[in-house]
Amino acid sequence: MWFHAKIVARMFLSAHQPKPLLFKLALLPHLHSFTSRCYFLSQASLPCRSISSYRDPLVTFLLDALKCSSSVSCCRVIHARVIKSLNFRDGFIGDQLVSSYLNMGLIHDAEKLFDEMANKDFVSWNSLVSGFSKMGHLGRCISLFSMIKSEYGLELNELTLLSIISVCASAQARDEGQYLHCCALKLGMLAEVKVANSLINMYGKFGCVDCAFRLFQAMSEPNMISWNSVVASCTQNGIPIEAINYFNMMRMNGFFPDEATMVSLLQACEFLPLGMLIEALHSVIFTCGLDSNVTIVTTLLNLYSKLGRLDASRKVYAEISKPDKVAWSAMIAGYAIHGCGKEAIEFFERTVMAGMKPDHVTFTHLLSACSHSGLVKEGKYYFRIMSDVYGVQPRLDHYSCMVDLLGRCGLLSDARNLIMHMPLQPNSAVWGALLSACRVYGNIDLGKEAAENLIALDPYDPRNYIMLSNIYSASGLWSEASKLRTLMKRNVLTKNPGCSFIEHGNKIHRFMVDDYSHPDSDKIHKKLEELIRKIQEVGFVSETESILHDVDEEVKINMVNKHSEKIALAYGLLVTNADKPLVIIKNLRICRDCHTTVKFVSQIEKRVIIIRDSKRFHHFSDGLCSCVVSGICCDCHTTEKFVSQVDNSKLNEGRPLSCSVSWN
Ligand SMILES: [Zn+2]
Ligand SMILES: [Zn+2]
Repeated sequence: MWFHAKIVARMFLSAHQPKPLLFKLALLPHLHSFTSRCYFLSQASLPCRSISSYRDPLVTFLLDALKCSSSVSCCRVIHARVIKSLNFRDGFIGDQLVSSYLNMGLIHDAEKLFDEMANKDFVSWNSLVSGFSKMGHLGRCISLFSMIKSEYGLELNELTLLSIISVCASAQARDEGQYLHCCALKLGMLAEVKVANSLINMYGKFGCVDCAFRLFQAMSEPNMISWNSVVASCTQNGIPIEAINYFNMMRMNGFFPDEATMVSLLQACEFLPLGMLIEALHSVIFTCGLDSNVTIVTTLLNLYSKLGRLDASRKVYAEISKPDKVAWSAMIAGYAIHGCGKEAIEFFERTVMAGMKPDHVTFTHLLSACSHSGLVKEGKYYFRIMSDVYGVQPRLDHYSCMVDLLGRCGLLSDARNLIMHMPLQPNSAVWGALLSACRVYGNIDLGKEAAENLIALDPYDPRNYIMLSNIYSASGLWSEASKLRTLMKRNVLTKNPGCSFIEHGNKIHRFMVDDYSHPDSDKIHKKLEELIRKIQEVGFVSETESILHDVDEEVKINMVNKHSEKIALAYGLLVTNADKPLVIIKNLRICRDCHTTVKFVSQIEKRVIIIRDSKRFHHFSDGLCSCVVSGICCDCHTTEKFVSQVDNSKLNEGRPLSCSVSWN
């Protein structure tokens, strides 16, 4: 495009006198495309020498100054200079000023200047629309769109349309987005690859993946961005098999994957946790020479760690020649969710010694690692030095990790004190961490206080009611628990159904609570009964506090014995090799009864069992779990962002995997 602009500029210069930018649009048929291109160049921060080589030195100077300027006062000085000595059309400096004002968030100044500018053309309108689009001002973009169309009678151009489609996509404005799609169709602009790509991206964000597919399939010559947009739409909508299929098609059409493709694909695999598939993608990354791209390998490292393969994450990290802060923090996050607090600290110290500077994300993961491993002294130390030594001010995430850490180790009043003295308004993660600890340690008063704060912050989250109800039930306050359940029913709050997933034979097998749908269901339930009998013989006693129904204890035991992770566990023991860890993924938190059951099973069956719940990994072996602190498994409730939530609707369970990654 740069080259093209230069050629157009030369043609333009050879035919006209100096100061060509003052010519009116009508004088030169090429001017419109020329101005658009120059606008593009300036937007892309590319050197716009095609203009500066012949324009007034003052214009060149002011434009360069505007490009470098990041202060409002500097913009105003340039603005004043233009009013004094130049015309807003000179070098399109008026349009550039509008963009600069908008980039600095000065909407009023931008609009005022725009109104004052004479002879506005498409470039001017686009400066305003694009600025508002970047700021996410859907309403302003739409009204400008109407003005361009009706009041000024200008035909819509590609740049305007792209800006407005982009803001509709981020604002989830479906009606407006569909209207723009119709406009593009009517104006014959769907054939423009950029317009089609942005619509695919928009429909992907809306969750209308079929519309995205139809648009893509109608394209005569999709480019790299088109392929990436359709793969990303699959990822955003949790349909990994389609993402892989489009990736294979892309390859067959002669396109090589780039960073965007690989990151999308790896993220899609979080919904399809098949070890074999991840390894295949890993080899694609290697074959394509993308293994030097830190963003891609960090995503891969993250994925391995989320799939319970911390060793593979370590190897990926070790192979990064120049790991950046994101990769480093991702590795610490891996240690944290696997309950390897000591390793996280050792790794942190080693890397800091090598010159890496930690930021707030690094400290969030480090404190989370301390919390998951019950390292109170270390946690307090890092919480203190993060601001004292590294100048990183604690944020809500850091406070929730600290409350979780203190609460998990039974220091409930310290945790409450921290909340009372924190300089920020505590959020649901902070109160949730305290409530969770109160449940573990049976502190009703504090639990009630935490739950009330939580319910005030988020009255529609059933977990808060369930946890408080558990505290009441555990303390024998049945009428309080019953009142809470009634309140929950009145607010129509229901728990998500629990389900567990296990990989076997190139398939993901999904089990719900009390599930008899699997073809081998008879064998599985027989195995489960046998396991429960065996662990009861060595001292296992059922814990039924997670059952909120008002039923007999025997019925509760029967209900808790049919939890999905127990069924998945029985199936895993039937079909997997004893020499490999058995990995189960659960969409919700594992309940205390299942946790204890798996501990016993790991001992009597002599198996390593790994369960990833919505919070973290539990590594069970020889009757112990990696999450056990001071003899109590602390179910925590801190911020859930470290571990991706497994949304059961998005997993492709039980389906034969027709997808494979091909590479020639
Ligand atoms: Zn359970
Ligand atoms: Zn555990």
